Amino acid sequence: MRITYKRYGLIAAGLLALVVSGCGLLDVFTVPAPDSLTGEACFLTPRDMEGPYYIAGAPFKESLYPTGTPGERLVISGTVYTAGCAGVLAGAEVDVWQADANGEYDFSDQFLGRGKVLTDANGRYTFETVLPGLYEPRPRHIHFRIFHPDRGELITQLYFEGSVRGAPAEQTIPLTQDDDTLRGTFDIVVGP
Ligand code: FE
Repeated sequence: MRITYKRYGLIAAGLLALVVSGCGLLDVFTVPAPDSLTGEACFLTPRDMEGPYYIAGAPFKESLYPTGTPGERLVISGTVYTAGCAGVLAGAEVDVWQADANGEYDFSDQFLGRGKVLTDANGRYTFETVLPGLYEPRPRHIHFRIFHPDRGELITQLYFEGSVRGAPAEQTIPLTQDDDTLRGTFDIVVGP
């Protein structure tokens, strides 16, 4: 039988579906959301590994490090959406932890590089920090734990364009430079 390019395409699509379902990734995706909220297709934010450095009980604070801490100042903002971006999640805890500019985590009672913020009535959150350094073999990243009493928790990670060794595209954001501060937007979509 002569295999046409169209058949190659169908075979490739079938193999891809097998691989994706075999990896358990199908439950990560959801249907596209109304464009009015995001202007683009809406996907559940993939879960990502917690890693070994989480410490429960970090305080609520808007800046993860004191002024003057070495590193490039970075402000991360975003909106926490419900599945399909059909609504926003107010009052969700956004618990973040990261390495400092030298790639080192703090384990002191000062919770440096660790903190929580709450989403406001519009599902918005923001916090200030420094650009995390690299520690081998990870790409540059910030850990996120999003918790809401009605929705449970989502543990994921944020990555940055230009430091993409193995970083998933759905969790990788660009940064812009605004005077001496880097800024990035990380919108998060939690499951039902
Ligand atoms: Fe880490």
